[in-house]
Amino acid sequence: MNTPDHSSNTEPKKRFIAGAVCPACQAMDGIRMWDVDEVPHRDCVHCGYSDTLNADGNSIPNELPTRVNISALQKPKKETKGQALQFFPNPKLKK
Ligand SMILES: [Zn+2]
Repeated sequence: MNTPDHSSNTEPKKRFIAGAVCPACQAMDGIRMWDVDEVPHRDCVHCGYSDTLNADGNSIPNELPTRVNISALQKPKKETKGQALQFFPNPKLKK
């Protein structure tokens, strides 16, 4: 169960990233970056775009801030366990 920890309204230190271009509005020098729980966050002061970098360094765009619980992001568990590969040695391949 993931409970987003918005522990307080204290603004973290946001640093403008020189030369960074917003992936949403293409504006330059509007990207700010800061860390929340050691997770890099970015946002754009021009259009409000924001994203997060995951552990692999991939950008995860955030939806516009709402108070809606994001339960849809939970990965559906696929029931693929029945598809375990079975290896049949084929005696006909032997020469
Ligand atoms: Zn932008």
